Amino acid sequence: MFDGKYMKLEEAGDGLLGLTLERKDGGENVLSEAFLDELTQVMQELESVSAQGLIVSSAAKHFALGADVTEFPAMFRLGADEIEGWLSGVNALFARFAALPYASVSVIGGMALGGGFELALATDFRIGSEAASVGLPEVTLGICPGWGGTVRLPRLIGTEQALNWMLAGAPKKAAQALEAGALDQVVSADQAMAAARTLLQKLHADATQLQQRREDNRRAAAELPQTAPAADGNPAVPGLQNLLSHSAALDMAAALRAESALFARLAGCDATQNLVSVFLSGQAIKRKYRKLAAKGEDVGVAAVIGAGVMGGGIASLAASRGVRALMKDISDEALQLGMSTADQLLERRVSRGRMSAEKKQAILGNISPQLDYAGFASAGYVVEAVVENPKVKAAVLSECEAQLPETAVLASNTSTISIDSLAASLARPENFCGMHFFNPVHAMPLVEVIRGQATSRETINTTVALAMKLGKTPIVVGDCPGFLVNRVLFPYFNAFNRLLADGVAFERIDRVMEGFGWPMGPAMLADVIGLDVMAHADAVMVEGFPARMGHDATPVVDQLLAQGLRGQKGGRGFYCHDGGRGERRPSAEALALSTAAADDKGAVSDDEIVDRMMIPLCLETARCLDEGIVDTAGEADTALLYGLGFPRFRGGALHYIDSVGAAQFLARTQAFSGCGALYEVPDFFRRRAEQGLRYFDH
Ligand code: NAD
Repeated sequence: MFDGKYMKLEEAGDGLLGLTLERKDGGENVLSEAFLDELTQVMQELESVSAQGLIVSSAAKHFALGADVTEFPAMFRLGADEIEGWLSGVNALFARFAALPYASVSVIGGMALGGGFELALATDFRIGSEAASVGLPEVTLGICPGWGGTVRLPRLIGTEQALNWMLAGAPKKAAQALEAGALDQVVSADQAMAAARTLLQKLHADATQLQQRREDNRRAAAELPQTAPAADGNPAVPGLQNLLSHSAALDMAAALRAESALFARLAGCDATQNLVSVFLSGQAIKRKYRKLAAKGEDVGVAAVIGAGVMGGGIASLAASRGVRALMKDISDEALQLGMSTADQLLERRVSRGRMSAEKKQAILGNISPQLDYAGFASAGYVVEAVVENPKVKAAVLSECEAQLPETAVLASNTSTISIDSLAASLARPENFCGMHFFNPVHAMPLVEVIRGQATSRETINTTVALAMKLGKTPIVVGDCPGFLVNRVLFPYFNAFNRLLADGVAFERIDRVMEGFGWPMGPAMLADVIGLDVMAHADAVMVEGFPARMGHDATPVVDQLLAQGLRGQKGGRGFYCHDGGRGERRPSAEALALSTAAADDKGAVSDDEIVDRMMIPLCLETARCLDEGIVDTAGEADTALLYGLGFPRFRGGALHYIDSVGAAQFLARTQAFSGCGALYEVPDFFRRRAEQGLRYFDH
């Protein structure tokens, strides 16, 4: 009856019709403009034939994954009226299912997400297979569902529950969706079509059930939600809360209009545009790195040298991902500590019911703590994670290299030492690169893969493949002091020092930067990283970029360190860390230092604090891109989101420059030209700003 690029409509026997979502190009079903055009044609056909029922299903693994996000940036550029007009067109199309003279059932195998779930919600009934999952994850993009999801789901499962589903954004498994009422039946995949036929035949025989369902679907959901969402800079969170608190009681048409109005408002928000742009960059990065990983070698057995905080974390992560891990150290005590740390981490998962005790034992059994190089002759990959000392590292690396097969890849988890300088001690520098994990290894999603001058493509590919196997997001960067993430972070800390020197209290700077969206302000971050680690890395940065990153006076971190304070791990830094979680008590030592500086008496405004902290970080990121330390703006910003905890709704440093506007950013930077070289505008940046160039066009 209809055979298009995205769907097919056929007679399915017994007076039933079958609409199968199926992309001719083999991709996943997404509700693009072209898809919706075909659905409009199909709807005309559905309205013009007589039938006893309609089954909507998918020939692909998933039912449908939602709107086509690649079309969002262009849509966002439309005015609010146009966006609302477009939404009401789709809503009118979806509403036609409920007006068909026969019943419709969606058969959901795999995922029905976002617009895909909204399409299923527009049909009269839903049958899921056991592998089905459904959800409205729009909030993760800073938008709300726009095709009736906020109207139909509350009417089906209750307002409070619907709001919780939408705020969490995560898909719900079949059993939970059935219990809530979002699915009418859950059956095994091979029974799903038969179950739909049986249901439609029953509905055809007794029209009252369909009438009742359609009335129920329209009825306003009375109870209003109590949920108080956390404000995290994502405008969709308070937006959804407000919307549901009044739209639940409206009639369908008015509720749909309210939903469209919210969607259009969110589409105009910077935060929403950033979240969508980050999502699209993330997709592009995944495609790029999957291609590299596919060309990489499977490493077989891996080894870690150094069983400390990082080495222990890497070995236990590898073992838990099915990679046998040799873990070598020079001290028996360190090995025991490494194993007990792994044990504690895994035990936490066991006690939360996320892992069985047997699985934990199997993972621990997959780590081989050892004082010698036994087994290294058959290892495919070694990560060196010994103390951050160039001489020790160079000696360990060359000693280790002699034990390895010629094809093995050797990587250093150094956070500051030049990969090229370490490569100088090796016989096979082409097989060497940096593999920079972040602390804590199990929780931090980023791995910087550092390409030295001699590093071969194969070495990079294998490292990328291993990082992905360990569940991390790899970003390949060039070799320079601090690589990408630390190079960008230290100008921010330098700015922090300069603000302190101007008499601004560190607790205030923390509060202002947390208000900007950072999970913690710079003083707390320094405490968490460790003041010793900070001071060490800072010295490397100052040596690497003396003009820009040098200090006029002794940095505060060094002053605290000189008094024996090491931050969180020592119990004391800018703050005292002996209290309960979340408690913030400045240490007397830090307070003494900041009151020693002249009190600024509010002369520095909150906006100025944000500018003075953010500008050096953003300019350094721009420099890294300009110098080719990182290949694309998307990779640079993703590294900052995952490596630094840069506020996601702000998109990253380069998104932030785009949001402010290059010309405005330039003007604000120039306003601080008296604050030192950190605020000097590089020529390339001035030219970009003068041309009005953006880093992202989505
Ligand atoms: P750590 O002090 O906890 O552990 C270092 C381990 O190396 C110790 O167990 C020590 O016994 C062992 N070791 C020293 N010399 C050795 C040798 N010759 N052979 C074998 N083992 C040896 O240090 P860490 O924090 O795990 O740091 C390790 C590396 O990771 C450093 O290069 C560091 O810069 C980097 N790094 C650390 C962090 C962090 O936050 N801790 C983050 C990223 C990267």
